[in-house]
Amino acid sequence: MNTTTDPFQERSEAAVKDKKLRANFLSAMNGLMEKRDLAFDDKTQLEALRILGAQVRQNSLVKLPELLVELETKLIQKGVQVHWAQTPTEAVDIIQSITLKEKATKIIKGKSMVSEEIHLNDKMEQIGVECLESDLGEYIVQLAKETPSHIVMPAIHKNTAEIADLLHEKTGIERKEDALYMTEQARLQLRQNFMEADIGLSGVNFAVAETGTLCLVENEGNGRLTTTVPKTHIAIMGIEKVVEKLEDTAPLLSLLTRSATGQPITTYFNMISGPRKEDELDGPESVHLVLLDHGRTQMYQDDELLDTLRCIRCAACMNHCPVYTRIGGHAYGFTYPGPIGKILMPHLEGLDETQSLPTASSLCGACAEVCPVKIPIPDLLVRLREEANHPNAQSSNVKGAGVKRRGMEPVIWSMWRWWHQGGTRYRLMTTTLSRLRFLQPGTLSPWTNTRTLPKLAKKTFHQQMNARAKK
Ligand code: SF4
Repeated sequence: MNTTTDPFQERSEAAVKDKKLRANFLSAMNGLMEKRDLAFDDKTQLEALRILGAQVRQNSLVKLPELLVELETKLIQKGVQVHWAQTPTEAVDIIQSITLKEKATKIIKGKSMVSEEIHLNDKMEQIGVECLESDLGEYIVQLAKETPSHIVMPAIHKNTAEIADLLHEKTGIERKEDALYMTEQARLQLRQNFMEADIGLSGVNFAVAETGTLCLVENEGNGRLTTTVPKTHIAIMGIEKVVEKLEDTAPLLSLLTRSATGQPITTYFNMISGPRKEDELDGPESVHLVLLDHGRTQMYQDDELLDTLRCIRCAACMNHCPVYTRIGGHAYGFTYPGPIGKILMPHLEGLDETQSLPTASSLCGACAEVCPVKIPIPDLLVRLREEANHPNAQSSNVKGAGVKRRGMEPVIWSMWRWWHQGGTRYRLMTTTLSRLRFLQPGTLSPWTNTRTLPKLAKKTFHQQMNARAKK
């Protein structure tokens, strides 16, 4: 039995042994993969759409600085208050100060992974403000005092029976393993929460610079209620979510919904363009947008790592990942799990905090094959592995670079190079080592904990080839 102090490894080992969790994930992920496949039945059209999606996102990133300025200008013209946050702490401070100014005590939240990224709920609780989740999956996760295990389906790790138990225990409703009944009951509670909330907080899927429009994709109508019922709306997004033109949203929306849930389009596509006007009956009195950096500018400075910012958070890479589908989202221990988390979290939290993530991959390439915006995830994982061993952290674009570099490593690699550069010494060394192969240890922990150690051949490759040539 291997003992380890690596928290990721410990959590993954526990997750792999949890049969119920594995069954929940396996059935959910199989279903999502099938739905995506059916949604993209024309593979030629899919490839053309992926190329277009990648171009749209790349174009937005190339022009990112100008587009952000244009977005800010347009939003201000429409009466939206724009705030810039370099760090999660700054973003939380901004939201707390709006909340205090509004004398708010309750915030109703639409689904927002950026709010998870800055751990907003806990921070608001510290100043006595209650954050109530309104997305059904987030609502379940909040009742269970957990974090989302998937970026699109936060409660995917729970099956119907577990959710029935949870709702019965936490809300007192009758226990019925009936999804429709449970949804109706949750809806009644959520309606009440919408009416009582002082502030609605939502994420943003795309922000259109030319029109100053914040687009929100959702299925439950909770996003629309969150952004229209309370008198104040706060939207929060990463700075990379901006696109140049309104027409850019069409291919991205098609790719996002079909890649995420296999739907041709979601039930709701909200386009928010400012607070309620004088002649309008609905909508918030004030709208704020918080633009969060949190390591994104650092990624932006690197021509290769920049590709990470193309992500539209569809989760297809997670649904198809052989590691994620077996260990689930919580084992990763960070806001974004799965392949996207492995290439994103090192920039948000630093490689020193996340060094296990880039190595938790077989580099099978399934993630890159399904990514709707063609992010070369395996290449970025290899790059991050290199960064973890970077010889000069100061010259790297990744926070925490060089964390895995050990003092002896350069010496070993220099010896390796020296050994391979001389023909005679290379032959001498390989012959000596092959003679000493009987000293091979029985276990090479942790490699052999889960694998059978292959037996070395009795004769070397050269010996075998020479023998064959003589025949
Ligand atoms: S990396 Fe690609 S597949 Fe994964 S969430 Fe982002 S857009 Fe979707």
